[in-house]
Order: sequence, then structure tokens, then C-alpha cells
Amino acid sequence: MTHLSDRINKISESQTIAMARKSRELKAEGIDIISLSLGEPDFSTPDVIKEVAKKAIDDNFSYYTHVSGYLELREAICKKFKRDNGLDFSPEEIVVSTGAKQSIANAVLCIVNPGDEVIIPAPFWVSYLEILKLAEGIPVIVDTTIQSDFKISPKQLEKVITSKTRLIMLSTPCNPTGSVYNKEELKALAQVIINYPDLYIISDEIYEHINFIGGHQSFAQFDFIKERVITINGVSKGFAMTGWRGGIMAAPNWIARACDKIQGQFTSATSSITQKAMHKAMDLDFDTYIKPMRDAFLKRRDLVLGLMSEIPGLKTNVPQGAFYVYPEVSYYFGKKYKDYVILNATDLTLYLLEEGHLALVPGAAFGEDCYIRFSYATNEENLIEALKRMKDALSKLQ
Ligand code: PMP
Ligand code: GLU
Repeated sequence: MTHLSDRINKISESQTIAMARKSRELKAEGIDIISLSLGEPDFSTPDVIKEVAKKAIDDNFSYYTHVSGYLELREAICKKFKRDNGLDFSPEEIVVSTGAKQSIANAVLCIVNPGDEVIIPAPFWVSYLEILKLAEGIPVIVDTTIQSDFKISPKQLEKVITSKTRLIMLSTPCNPTGSVYNKEELKALAQVIINYPDLYIISDEIYEHINFIGGHQSFAQFDFIKERVITINGVSKGFAMTGWRGGIMAAPNWIARACDKIQGQFTSATSSITQKAMHKAMDLDFDTYIKPMRDAFLKRRDLVLGLMSEIPGLKTNVPQGAFYVYPEVSYYFGKKYKDYVILNATDLTLYLLEEGHLALVPGAAFGEDCYIRFSYATNEENLIEALKRMKDALSKLQ
């Protein structure tokens, strides 16, 4: 007999983490699984960042800091926003957390009341919906298609706004589609949002540096909407620092104070050592340290798209950022092999795991069960083998 709260019972386990766990278990049984389920760079954290962190330990930088992160770090983050995004923030508008995931949870819990509607364009990143459920908000999912490069249009947005709409949440570059909104597209959405004074935006820009078309565009760049934008960023993706747990939120002061308050009760500041490492990351030379990783991701994207185009029935957009390809797989629905009957992308993912020894994530986690997310954040050899396994397994389905 368990006595878990209704709150925890109504949220699902993160599907990305669940798939990664499943493949780890199969690997432990001795099965040779290629896991492309978790979105995490395979690169090591740059040595210059590690050195700063080691020094911070030796210097006994080991005490609690300001809940929102120590002041010089927040100043460095403000400089980054100015330099890279042309955005003016003061340190009081910055909250450093234990990852973009926490920053998003902080913001949602501070903005959304039970019964408030929150617009989430699908495909969306897994945790948006579950965090929203915790806040007892009502998700309003807006489906997008490959034809529109998985971007929500101003018309689609306007159509679903009601007097109860409080928030819209999206990522650019997008996990799982790799879509990147350009300046005009963001401005057109901002021009809709501005007409609704109670409507806020969580603009999740954690993949800012993994952008193949250059010139990342921030939602907060438009002065007329800046007071309504909560910008999320972090070091996990661009700096290969997933395990360090460093997230960033930039938002109007009253939202930042609220997030500081909630974080002060839940976790306090992130690790003081991580903060020193983040501080170094904020000043890192892009061309020397980040561009090589970005370029490697681009090369891998092209490799994956090329090999995928040789597999019948997979339809994709051309991702312009992040490190995912998100093929539509409905061609395989209704097909069979041995005891496997494929009715949706979840069935297909399970089939690929058990028959192809390849771990991916079903689209159901991101809003629609006719896609599969393929992370290409691994080396080329692994990718070639993964696509061979995918092709072989899919070719058996009749
Ligand atoms: N937002 C998006 C779109 C992500 O893909 C992720 C992680 N994959 C996060 C937020 C959370 O990142 P972090 O590791 O900083 O918590
Ligand atoms: N966010 C990454 C992903 O989408 C890592 C897993 C997670 O945090 O859910 O795979």
C-alpha cells in the first residue's frame, strides 16, 4: 500500500530519462545497445572550465551563495546577454539554478495558477507538460507540422488564446525538431502576444549555441514585449556541461524575485563550484571552444539526414539547430514482424529497441505518437551503426 499524493501520481516519468534507463539496464544484461535517447553532448567539458572549478575547490569556494547565484556570476551573465543577444538585464533580473529544467519549473510555478491555460506548441520538450501538470495549469497543445517546419504561426496562436491564457512555452532551437525561429517569425508572434496583457512567454533558448544558420534570435529582443518574456538558458548543451547542473533565467525583476523565493525553499543556489564553472563558460571564446562542437553537430546532422533518406517512409524537416532529427514514421503503422504489430511510434520504438538494439524516444513524449526522436549527439561511427540497425530492423516489417 502506498500513499503517494495525487500530485505525483498524475505526472509521468520523463520519457527521455526512462528510455536512457531502459537501455542502461539492457546494456547491463550484456546486450549491445546503441542509445540515442538522451539529449546530451558526448563532448567533454572544456578543460579551461574544469581548471576553474578545480581551483574553486582548492580555494574553498564551498559555502552557500546568494540563492540566485553570486553577484559576479550574474554580472557575467548580463554581459553575455548584452554581447550575444543585445539584451539589457541587471543582475537582479537573473536567477541561476540547478539546470534549465529547474528554471522552467520555477517560472511555471510562479506564473501559473490552477486552471490557467498554457499554450504549448507541439512537438514540445517532454518536461513542459509534466511541470505544467504539477502547477495544475491546463495545457493547450497546438499541433504543428513538418510543412511549417514545426513552427506555430501567429494565426494558430491567436486562435487558441482565451481570457484564461497565461503563458506560452516554446524552445528555439527546438527540442525535439531542431527548428529555429527567425527574427520575423518571433516578432510576428510577439505582435499577437502584446495584445493580451496577462500573457507571458517562456522562451527556452538552451540550444542557442547549437544553431546551424547562425545569429540566434532571442524573444526578449523586442522592447515592446520584453517585460513579458522569461528567457531560459544554461550551460548543459552549448558547453557540454549536462552533469554540472547550471541553469539561467532572465526575466523582469518581480518574476526573478519570485523564482528566487521558490528556489530558496526548494534547493537554494546551485553548487558553488558549478557557479564558478558557469562564470568561466560565460566568458569562453566561441570560435575556440564552442564552434568546433557546433560544427561537429552539423556534420553529424548531414550524415544522419543522408543515411535516413535511404530508409523508406521516413519524413523529416531539415533541423537548423539542437542535435535531434525527428522523423515521421507512420509509413510503418499496421506493419508486422514476428509477434510485433506496429500501431504507433511507441510500438515502433520498442521494436527498434528489442529487435534493432537501438534506443530512441517515441514522439508521444513530445506531443504526437507518429514521430521518433533520434539524438545525434554521439560519434559518427555510432551514428552509422545506429542507422544501419534502424534500416535493417525497419526493412523486416511487412
Ligand atoms: N530545455 C530543453 C529544450 C532541453 O532539451 C533540456 C534538456 N535536454 C532542458 C531544457 C533542461 O536542461 P538542463 O540540463 O539545463 O536542466
Ligand atoms: N533534456 C534532455 C533530453 O531531452 C535530457 C533528458 C532530460 O533532461 O529530460 O533528452
